[in-house]
Formats: sequence, C-alpha cells, structure tokens
Amino acid sequence: MALSGHAEIAGAGFGGLVAAIGLADRGWSVRVHERRQVLQAEGYGIAIQDNMTRIFAALGILDAILAGGMEIDRRDSLNGKGEILLSLQNGLGRYRISRRHIISLLAERADQTGVEIVTGSTVTGANPDGTLELDDHKTCRADLIIAADGINSVIRESLGLMERQVWQKEGGVRMVIPRLPEDVARDARDGTAMIEAWSDKRRILYCPNSPSEVYVILTCMERDLPGRATPIDRPAWQSSFPTMAPLLERISRDTDWEECRWVRFQTIRLKRWSVGRVAILGDAAHAMPPYLGQGAGHAMMNGLGLAVAIDEAPELASALDLWERRERPMTEHTQRWTRIYGATIFLPERLKSLAINAEKHIPWLAHQYSRAATHLPTGCDLSSAS
Ligand SMILES: Cc1cc2nc3c(=O)[nH]c(=O)nc-3n(C[C@H](O)[C@H](O)[C@H](O)COP(=O)(O)OP(=O)(O)OC[C@H]3O[C@@H](n4cnc5c(N)ncnc54)[C@H](O)[C@@H]3O)c2cc1C
Repeated sequence: MALSGHAEIAGAGFGGLVAAIGLADRGWSVRVHERRQVLQAEGYGIAIQDNMTRIFAALGILDAILAGGMEIDRRDSLNGKGEILLSLQNGLGRYRISRRHIISLLAERADQTGVEIVTGSTVTGANPDGTLELDDHKTCRADLIIAADGINSVIRESLGLMERQVWQKEGGVRMVIPRLPEDVARDARDGTAMIEAWSDKRRILYCPNSPSEVYVILTCMERDLPGRATPIDRPAWQSSFPTMAPLLERISRDTDWEECRWVRFQTIRLKRWSVGRVAILGDAAHAMPPYLGQGAGHAMMNGLGLAVAIDEAPELASALDLWERRERPMTEHTQRWTRIYGATIFLPERLKSLAINAEKHIPWLAHQYSRAATHLPTGCDLSSAS
C-alpha cells in the first residue's frame, strides 16, 4: 500500500509548491510555510524548457502558464561590438515567463488540491524525528518535512548537511523594464530573440518576459565594483557594450531599483538529500549558477520526483533513497555543465567566440548543455506536452 500521512513544507517557491501539489494529489495532507507576508513573487523571467513544460502539463496548468509568457524563437549570442557570433533556434529556453505568474498559478493549483499555505510563517530549523521549528517558538509534527527554503536554507544549516558550498567569482542582477513597440519584430518571420551579449567579463542577457515586459540580467565578476552597482553605472556598462546604449539608458531609467540587488552565484552540494523524516530540495540542496536556466527546473523536477518516489516505495527511508538515486545524477550533471558554460567568460575574446560557436558544431556538447532541458521528469509522460 502507498505511504500517506502529513507533510510540512518550508518555502512556497518552485520546489516547495510542486512537491506540495505532488503529495496532495497522492493523498497526503500538506501545509506550506512561507516567510513572506504575501505570495507575490518577483516579476523577473524564468527560462522555461521542455522538462518544465512537461511538469506543468502533468499538473494540468500548462496552457495557463504559457498564456502569461512569451515564446522565444532563437538565442543570438553577440560580442561587445554587437556582432552576432551564434544564432541558435530554441537555445536555452523555448519560453520566458515571469516568476510571479508561475508562482501564482502553482499556488492556485495547490489550493485547489487542499494544500494549506501559511504566509508570514518563518521556519527556523527541523529535527530528523519529524519536528519543524517556527520562529514564534512553536513546533509542528509531520511524517515528512520538506526543506524547500531556498539558497540560504536554515533547515539545511540546522541539520549540518552541507558537503560543499562554492562561491563563484561571478554574480548578477535581474530587472524587468517595460516592453516598447520598437522591441516587437516588425516582420513576424523575424520572431522573438533572446539576446546574450559577451564583453570581457561582463554579460547582458535580455528578452521579452510577457507582451508588456522585457527581462534583463547583467552579470559580472564580484570584484567589478562598477559592474555590480545598483542603480547601474551606465557609463561603465556602455564602455563594454557601446551598441547597447539605448537599452542601458532604458534600464537606468525604468528599473524599479528597490526590487533589484546583485547576488553572487553559488554551487551547493549536500552530503545527502535527506536525513530521518526531512528531505531537502531545490536551491537549498543543489543551487547552481543560472547560465543554463535550469535551477527552477531542477527544483520542480525534484519536488515532483519526491512525491512519486514516496508513492512507489513501501516506507519513507526507501522512498527517500530511491528519490535521491533517481534524481541526483541529472541534477549534478547540470551543476557541472552550467559551470563549464559559465567558464566561457574567462576566455580571451577570440577563444570566447570559438567556445560560443562550439555548441553549433559539436552535437555532443550541445547535448550536454541541453540534457536536463530535454529530460522527461519522473511523474510526467511524453504525450502530455512537447
Ligand atoms: C540571476 C538568476 C537568474 C536565474 N534564472 C533562471 C532561469 O532562467 N531558469 C531557471 O530555471 N532558474 C533560474 N534561476 C534559478 C532559480 O531562480 C532558482 O533555482 C529557483 O528559484 C529555486 O527554487 P526553490 O523553490 O528551490 O527556491 P526559491 O525559489 O528561492 O524559493 C524558496 C522560498 O522559500 C521561502 N523561504 C526562505 N526561507 C524561509 C524560511 N526560513 N521559512 C519559510 N519560508 C522561507 C522564500 O521566501 C521563497 O519563497 C536563476 C537564478 C538567478 C540568481
């Protein structure tokens, strides 16, 4: 007989909400604790690839999710002079959709399945015996606790599960600006592009996030103080990307800087993904730099994969074992290859353009980059989404 019981989840992000829905769909009672007062997530864009559309299809919300986003036809990689180095169909994400839109639809779906979401509830730790600790000194008991409390997870810290935390030399700042009529391709055959521009150790990536918004991310080294500044140091960025002066001016003028801060990228690896009755998932367990656009994808894959493993195994310990054995290799593959892709930034300019182009000429390399994106997640089937 399948396991069932009560789960307490820390964090109403991608991982926590998908795990909550997965368990509730399989007969569990579920409560999610979210420290924010409201579930209003940030508006910045998430690259949505086939693994993620398959999860949304399995949850029955794919059409609603896609209705709020943008289909991206191609990725154009440019150098600092604005010259195109590579143009790839569907490279790094078929859709770009605002995090706010996705989180609100996941929360609505969770609510319909009977999941209780408690906002303004901050978790401070967990015990492997199944006790969740809250900041008002209350505790909750559960058959299963899920730590989906993001990159700075307090549950992970309270359990001492960290094996390795690598602070990357690079980080970035994300922002959303209004989309103007001139951003829309005049000829529909030109389609919608995601632009990724590289100059020395700085990068600008931008594309539409919805019919009315453009999502932008600027990355640079931690020691690059002008590059990290918010509001942006426009002359500094213009010196690296002279042909992008109009875009930089719009970023400077139209960004809500209250919402933006530069964050340094990290890679996190745990000794194991669970202990006793506590499972850790998403950025809390396996944060990665965002170059392949798969952090949220893995949080969701591992959230649904956990619910499926629990449904399949006769008891919790073997379910958690099965889950980690099944999901961890793909997650670590993406962590490895996102860092390899990101390392392109350290190459001299000439080698950089060769490395960017290599993806087009070496199918094996393209396959490594896109393995997670083309993966069929546990709990999904190919007929529901393509
Ligand atoms: C610059 C940048 C660009 C990115 N671009 C992409 C992309 O294009 N595609 C992609 O797939 N991924 C992308 N990512 C990664 C992605 O945002 C994360 O991997 C993803 O959000 C992880 O989901 P999660 O559910 O594990 O954690 P989160 O989304 O961080 O959610 C954690 C939740 O837990 C809550 N919380 C935290 N602490 C507590 C507590 N103590 N008690 C209660 N609640 C708590 C938080 O408020 C939050 O709601 C990007 C990341 C960065 C930094």
